[in-house]
Amino acid sequence: MNNGKICISVCAETADELIEQIKRAEELADIIEIRFDCLVEREFDSAFQKLNNFEYKKTFLATLRPKSSLAMFACPFGENVSLEIKEKAKKEQTFRNNGWHKISELKNVSHIDFETDIQTEFFTTEFKFDENSVYFFSEEVDRKLKSKQIIISEHFFDNVPENVAQQYEAMKSEIEDGIKSDVIKIAVQTDDITDTIPIWKLLEKAKLDDQQIIPIAMGESGKWTRILGLAHGAFMTYAALDSGKETAPGQVSAKDLTEVYRVKELDENTEVYGILGNNTSVSMSPYIHNAAFKFHNLNSVFVPLQVNDLDEFIKRMVKPETREIDLNFKGFSVTIPHKQSIIKHLDFIDESAQKIGAVNTVKIVDGKLHGYNTDANGFIEPLKNTYGDLENVKVAIVGAGGAARACIYALKTQGAIVTIFARDLEKAKTLAEDFEVDLRELPKTKDQRPKTDFKEFEILVNTTPLGMKGKFDGASAAIAEQLEGLNLVYDLIYIPFQTPLMTEADKANVPKIGGLAMLIAQAMEQQKNWTGLDAPMKEMSRAALQKLK
Ligand code: NAP
Repeated sequence: MNNGKICISVCAETADELIEQIKRAEELADIIEIRFDCLVEREFDSAFQKLNNFEYKKTFLATLRPKSSLAMFACPFGENVSLEIKEKAKKEQTFRNNGWHKISELKNVSHIDFETDIQTEFFTTEFKFDENSVYFFSEEVDRKLKSKQIIISEHFFDNVPENVAQQYEAMKSEIEDGIKSDVIKIAVQTDDITDTIPIWKLLEKAKLDDQQIIPIAMGESGKWTRILGLAHGAFMTYAALDSGKETAPGQVSAKDLTEVYRVKELDENTEVYGILGNNTSVSMSPYIHNAAFKFHNLNSVFVPLQVNDLDEFIKRMVKPETREIDLNFKGFSVTIPHKQSIIKHLDFIDESAQKIGAVNTVKIVDGKLHGYNTDANGFIEPLKNTYGDLENVKVAIVGAGGAARACIYALKTQGAIVTIFARDLEKAKTLAEDFEVDLRELPKTKDQRPKTDFKEFEILVNTTPLGMKGKFDGASAAIAEQLEGLNLVYDLIYIPFQTPLMTEADKANVPKIGGLAMLIAQAMEQQKNWTGLDAPMKEMSRAALQKLK
C-alpha cells in the first residue's frame, strides 16, 4: 500500500458532458482534475453554475491551460504585433482571467495547477496587477486561490530537455524563495524507454529533498512511470476516465490502474515484470499476467516496457553493474522485434530456446538474465489438444519470423513434416536450413495467392502478422479456395478474436484455432517459470477475453 492518489483528468466541451464525466470519475478517483480549458467558451458560465449546484464526493484539481501561446507572450503588446493578434490575445486573456476568478469561487476545489511561467508572474511581488497583464486578479481572488494546495507545473511536449534536473532545482528554489506552492509537477515527452530515466531520477531526488512531486513521462514508453510512480513516492498519478479519452499521451485508464495494475497496493519492494517490445500499446500481456499475480495475491506487477533500443535499455535500466535506476525487475516477456536480439544479453539460455534461436521469456535471478522460450509449448499444446497425434502430419507454415521458429521446433519434436511458405526466400533460407525443412515461395500480392496450393497439407499455420488489428487489418494469409481440403487452420493472430483467415477457414468448412489459446498457454508457462506457482488459467483467459471484447 502507498499514499499516492489517482487523479482522473476530465476534459469536456459542454457543461452537461462535464458533469456526466465527473459523476463517473468519482467512482474511481481520489481527486478529479477539471481541465477548464476544454470547455467551449459559450459553455463556461453554465459549467460553473452546474458545478456549484452539484454535490461532490471528491475534491477537484482546477487546471486552465492556455488555449494558445498568445496568452503568455502577447502582453504587454509590442509595436510589431498586428491588430488581429492583439484581439485574439485580449480574448484569451479575458477568457482565462474570467476563468480563474470563477475557479477561486468554486466550492470543493482543493488543488490548482499553474504552469511555472504563469505562477512566477502571479506570485512574485514585482508583478503588477494591471489590465494589460496576462493575469489580472483582484486581491480577493489572489487570496482565495492561494488558500488551495498549489501544483506548479512545467510541460515539455516535444522531448526530455537535457537540463530537466535543473528545471526541478529552479522550481524548488522558487518555492524556497517564498512562492506559495505545495507540489512540483514536471511532464516530459518520451520516445524510448531510456528517455524516462531522468524523470525517474527526479522522483528519487525529490524524496531526498522531502519535496512532493508528480513526475510524468508522457508517451507509450513512459507508461510504466505512471504505474510505478505512486509506489515510489509520487504525489499522484493522472488517469484517463476511459480508454480512448486520454488527456495526455500514454495515460492509462483509471479502471486499469486500479483493477489491472493495482497501483495503490504497490510499494518499493514490488517485483516488476514487463513486456519488452516496440509496440506495447497493443499487448494483452499486462492483462493476462496481472490477473495471475492478483489471483495469487503476489506483490508483483507486469507493466508495458516500450523499448526501441534494446542494448541501451539493458545497459541503463537492467544490468546491476551499469544500470542508472533500480526498478526491481524480475522478468520479461519478449516480443517483436527483440526475441532474437535479447539472446546476446543473457547470462544463461535454456537448451530448447537455444535450438529455437529465439527467447520470449527472461527470468532475472540475482541480477543475471536467464532466457527461455515458452512459445513452442504454448503453440503445440492447443494443437495437440485439438488435432491429436502429429506424427507424419503435413504442416504448411506461412511466415518465417521468430514465431515460425518456435512453431517449427515444436512440430519437429512431434514428428510432423513441415514446409515453410515465405515471401522472401533468401531471408527464410537460414530458418529452413536450421530445421531441415522444405521452403516454398508465398506469392506477394493478393491476386497471386490462389497460385499457392495448400491442398497437399493437413494443417496450415499462419505465423505472419497478416490480419492483426492495425496495419494488417482485414488481410488474410490465404483465401477459402486455397484452404479447401485442409483438416485444420491455426492462426497465431489473436486480435481480432475471429481473424480474417479464420473467416476464410469457415467459408471453406475447415476447423480452426485462433491465437488466444497459444497466448494463454505460453503466458501460463511464463508464470510458472517466474513464480513457481501453477498459473490460474481461468483468470488469465477471462482477463484476455474481457480486454478483447
Ligand atoms: P516476425 O519475426 O516479424 O515475423 C513475421 C513474419 O511474417 C516474417 O517472416 C515476415 O516476412 C512475414 N510477413 C510480414 N508481413 C507479411 C506479408 N504482408 N505477407 C507475407 N508475409 C509477411 O514476427 P513474429 O514474432 O514471428 O510474430 C508474427 C505474428 O505472430 C505476430 O503478429 C504476433 O503477434 C503473432 N504471435 C502470436 C503469438 C500467440 O501467442 N498467439 C505468439 C507469437 C507471435 P519478412 O521476413 O519477409 O518480413
